[in-house]
Amino acid sequence: MSASEAVTDALRELHARFAGVDEGRQADYIPELTRSDPDDFGLALVSMDGHAYSAGAADTPFTLQSVSKPFVYALALAALGLDEVSRWVGAEPSGEAFNAISLEPGTGRPANAMVNAGAIVTTALVPDSREEPAFGRILSCLSRFAGRKLDVDEDVHGSEAATGDRNRALAYLIRSTGSLPVDPVQAVDTYFRQCAVRATAVDLAVMAATLAYGGVNPVTGERVVSPEVAAQVLAVMATCGMYDSSGDWLLRVGLPAKSGVSGGLLAAGPARFGLAAYSPLLDASGTSVRGRAALGALSERLGLHLMRNP
Ligand code: GLN
Repeated sequence: MSASEAVTDALRELHARFAGVDEGRQADYIPELTRSDPDDFGLALVSMDGHAYSAGAADTPFTLQSVSKPFVYALALAALGLDEVSRWVGAEPSGEAFNAISLEPGTGRPANAMVNAGAIVTTALVPDSREEPAFGRILSCLSRFAGRKLDVDEDVHGSEAATGDRNRALAYLIRSTGSLPVDPVQAVDTYFRQCAVRATAVDLAVMAATLAYGGVNPVTGERVVSPEVAAQVLAVMATCGMYDSSGDWLLRVGLPAKSGVSGGLLAAGPARFGLAAYSPLLDASGTSVRGRAALGALSERLGLHLMRNP
């Protein structure tokens, strides 16, 4: 069997194996997210030659939510450099939930850019450019990672803006420690807009593949960020991308990854592939239940664990 037949086979088989799992629940603290179809389940893998493999609902759009965080972190790193970004946001696993009301003792910085507190700061660090306001830069950056023009789901944005007091509280807390360089209301609204950017599982796999390919989108050939920035983002995804289950995920699955509460999940195999799943039923940590199961099984089946010597 050729390598590409093995990938196609594995995606189809794992899709069939986990499609019937109906544990978990949709996120309802953003009411609009409960309108997604709980049966939707898509898997996608993009190789370094830009070939996309998929199974199931891999072209169904959903909002990025926290899957946006590593890519906006990449934009901030590209604009300001690691030293400046690290003055504002740390790079240590927090061991806490994504929405924890907590900052690093001593510095007052958020622990890392993958939890909400750190992501709000990262978003706030993206400066307006002469050509574009900050959100325009964020949207074009996310689009370059995906290799096509993405847009905002205004209903999801409105729904989170109407109910997002916890994130607003976090932003005010961060500002009180001197760790937020802009107005909290504005920072959180830009963050909500980036969370409401719409993409598919195939898009997520292309985005992950771009990080895996050293910052070059393997489908369009465009350099999106430098190899240094891509490596920095993957490092933080490996240690912090799955919040308080990051250690267990790295132990079992062995890949830098990021989950989001609409049910998107992506993982990257450096120099090898980008991988993604979409299924809206979530476990207690806000990760897609079927996505976690399928990516874990795929890693085992294809021997993808990064620490493994083939
Ligand atoms: N927009 C969501 C929030 O801030 C994203 C959280 C997530 O996907 N884990 O609560």
